Amino acid sequence: SKQLTTRPTYARINWANLRSNYQIAKAQAPGAAYAVIKANGYGHGIVACARALGEADGFAVACVDEAMALRQAGIKRPVVVLQGAYCSKEWQLASDNDLQLVVQHPQQLQQRAELVLPNPVAVWLKINSGMNRVGVRADEAQALIDLIDADEQLQLRLVMTHFADADQGSDAALADAIQVMQSQSWPVPLSVSNSAATLTGLASVLETSDSVSRPGILLYGSSPLLNQSAAELGLKTVMTLTSQVIHIHTIKAGEKVGYGGDWTAEKDGRIAVVAIGYGDGYPRQAPNGTPVMINGHRCALAGRVSMDMITVDISAHDDIQIGDAVELWGEQIDVDDIAARCNTIAYELFCQLTPRVKRIAA
Ligand code: PLP
Repeated sequence: SKQLTTRPTYARINWANLRSNYQIAKAQAPGAAYAVIKANGYGHGIVACARALGEADGFAVACVDEAMALRQAGIKRPVVVLQGAYCSKEWQLASDNDLQLVVQHPQQLQQRAELVLPNPVAVWLKINSGMNRVGVRADEAQALIDLIDADEQLQLRLVMTHFADADQGSDAALADAIQVMQSQSWPVPLSVSNSAATLTGLASVLETSDSVSRPGILLYGSSPLLNQSAAELGLKTVMTLTSQVIHIHTIKAGEKVGYGGDWTAEKDGRIAVVAIGYGDGYPRQAPNGTPVMINGHRCALAGRVSMDMITVDISAHDDIQIGDAVELWGEQIDVDDIAARCNTIAYELFCQLTPRVKRIAA
């Protein structure tokens, strides 16, 4: 068997495919496309993503801390902070570092008024189009627009919203949200599109050549649409999560495997133990039968996911040995399939990978 050196558990990132997926978003967007790389680039590495997408029109992050990580790494492209500033220090950092801020609540403007900014800050006003999470209602937006207009240190750049139902295609709630955005005549262009809205063409209904779309998950090769796979959408795999077989043992018919004895061998066979578990971010809820690829063979999880290991039924494949490479998702196994089996979404699988998983270029 091959020699094992350090923990063989990697997220291999194909940066060319990230760029290719960005180009798909860019081609669909009527205006600019800011790559959404919040939450550590959906787990792929925020600075690495920004470097790989060096030609992107701009980047969107969740908070000022993330934006500062980009600026400190020397990234000079436009950056918008989707949750905006929540204290005067964040307004100061935005002004010092040319960060664009979303304003989603009048109180954020009060905090802004507490200090004199060295440079004007470009702001995007967030409209609540039905998600009822953040943003102001369309018919209450004018008061904030007036406040922003009256403030010489603020520049209203875009009016934005984030749809609750963009992945449903023709859903009535989505139609209502579009109606909300069309109910006013806005003084600046709109930014509405996440990945789903980009790919369904919704973007072109509301956005213009001066708009900014905000594609996230599609960049990472996962489908935002319920009825179309990433491959059908022409999206390429970016992350392939791999590990190795670290142990193999035989099992007799009727014996159980793992915590709680959740899996029982129907006949005599072999179990491979793989060096990945929920301590790496592999989902603990992955049920028996979840596919993993070993040596080109599609095998199935047998027994509960542990913190540092999973157990796989390799009874049908005599050639599998200790040291063999294992793919958990990526090139051969669709991450969206794994997410569906775990009752979650690829967003969460990507984001919950822990630092123990080394991110390396594919
Ligand atoms: N815009 C905003 C405001 C978001 O919060 C997000 C992600 O949650 C996105 C865009 C990107 O969404 P998606 O990853 O579905 O493309």
